[in-house]
Amino acid sequence: MLVLQDRQQKIRQIENEIRTVPLQRKHLESQLAASVAALETLKQRARQVEVERKKLELDVGTRQQSIARLRTQQYETRKNDEFQALGHEIERYEKEITAIEDQELELMDQADKLKAEVIAEEKKGAAAKDSISRQLHDLEEKAKTLATRLEDLKKERTELAGTIDEDLLDRFNRLFASKGDAAVVALEHDVCTGCHMRVTTATANLVRAGKEIVSCEQCGRILYNGS
Ligand SMILES: [Zn+2]
Repeated sequence: MLVLQDRQQKIRQIENEIRTVPLQRKHLESQLAASVAALETLKQRARQVEVERKKLELDVGTRQQSIARLRTQQYETRKNDEFQALGHEIERYEKEITAIEDQELELMDQADKLKAEVIAEEKKGAAAKDSISRQLHDLEEKAKTLATRLEDLKKERTELAGTIDEDLLDRFNRLFASKGDAAVVALEHDVCTGCHMRVTTATANLVRAGKEIVSCEQCGRILYNGS
């Protein structure tokens, strides 16, 4: 019966381990997704910077066109004050162009940094993908091994159960299910190692005699002589 209990405990342990497999798989998959998302965010930012830079380029273009138009007007006018007013406007546009070009330089700087970050993230992502797919593979292997081991243990359990008296087996199964740890425990120095309570002298004597199945009067677990 102790062997049966050992197999039962191993079965429970393996079943618990098998139950964690989907969770572990999900955890690994979310790590992979996070790595992909991080790269995508960086790429998105790089695209945004490029869009902004192109817009600034257009802004410079329209101002250059305005300046060209003003210069033509300047060329055509004969009035001095109008010539000067046009000149001020040209100056204003030129100042704006300088400011926009400064912004452009800043964006180009950002773009360079983002490009380096994307490359680093790509490298990191590739390494993470390798590691995670390896871990996923190992996890599948482990799940297969556990399933095989579980099958073997269940077979063994059935064989062992066949050698035990039906009523006793029934009692054992009920205890094992309700106690959560063990149905059969040692009695050590008259103390039940299941509930850690002292049993009566009569019970202890019966256990030591070893002629019948004796239960702890506190917790109901089946006792065997351990001292
Ligand atoms: Zn007990």
